[in-house]
Amino acid sequence: MNTVPARENAPTASANPFGTAYPIVNLNGKLVHTDEARVSIHANALSYGTGTFEGIRAFWNPRSRQLYLLEAVEHYRRFHRSARILGLPLSFSVDKLVDMTCELLRANDVRADAYIRPLLFLSGEVLTVKMHGIEARLTMAASPLPGSYINTDGVRCMVSTWRRPPDVSTPIRAKVIGSYVGNALAKTEAVQSGYDEAIMLTADGFVAEASTSNILVRSDGEWSTPPPTDDILAGITRRRVMELVAETTGKTVIERRIQRSELYSADEMLLCGTAAAVAPVVEVDGRSVGDGKPGEQSVMLRNLFLAIARGDDPSHPESTMAVYDNNSPVSAGA
Ligand code: PMP
Repeated sequence: MNTVPARENAPTASANPFGTAYPIVNLNGKLVHTDEARVSIHANALSYGTGTFEGIRAFWNPRSRQLYLLEAVEHYRRFHRSARILGLPLSFSVDKLVDMTCELLRANDVRADAYIRPLLFLSGEVLTVKMHGIEARLTMAASPLPGSYINTDGVRCMVSTWRRPPDVSTPIRAKVIGSYVGNALAKTEAVQSGYDEAIMLTADGFVAEASTSNILVRSDGEWSTPPPTDDILAGITRRRVMELVAETTGKTVIERRIQRSELYSADEMLLCGTAAAVAPVVEVDGRSVGDGKPGEQSVMLRNLFLAIARGDDPSHPESTMAVYDNNSPVSAGA
């Protein structure tokens, strides 16, 4: 006779190392308890990765007791573009999605660094490989994520044996759930080989990006980064860092093809992305980047980026949004 195993409440190896996800989530526009937002094991997206997502950061500023949502409008613009590419219905406007995100954070009384995951996916129980005529669902959930998800004091990278799929195979401008398997394999390969992060090349061998971040390289005094046509996800952080480089050094970041051997001779290198923030790279495939210490400009850019994100540097108010109305009484437990 089959017995039902006892429910396991103890943390498992797969538990979020940064803490339990917040209990209130958004399901198709309504706030519900996470227990009510269940997905069937027959959901189309679970088998085929048919959906899109975003990852958005919120930074808590203990000094001003304010939570700052970073680049929310840009993230939801990309979410809309991804939905359009995949042909998924998304009835909420960018502004409405931003409001829903602030509401979600307030409902959970989030007063710590957090990560927000909007998802739009085929939830219908139809196991046909197609994108049309299947029910879709929108969810939004938040979980704790401290400022330093990756070692921002110096990342050690390996060039992965896994390559970025070309846009002719999978739409690289869309953040497609299913297309992250290659990135996950690359990350695991890097970590199991003793590195922190993977750098993926394009199918024809040019530098593309890291597993969940973009890459900028400084050689001969110029910062360069691969163009979107080299099968990268054109990151929102990448765009901001390019602006910060121009503002602080007076020089434009060049978008151009980068060969693997340039990674071995670069003076500085950094990774940038929502989760990674700005992280100087100190080593690639066992070779030091520059003198093997985080580059001077990379450290300056990392510090400036984090100061803007946390609301300590007011020079880019368009990047952040205050979640709490600080004139209203602070809730208990804050
Ligand atoms: N590339 C990939 C594959 C990613 O998943 C991410 C994270 N979204 C990035 C680059 C960086 O993009 P962003 O700065 O918009 O987070």
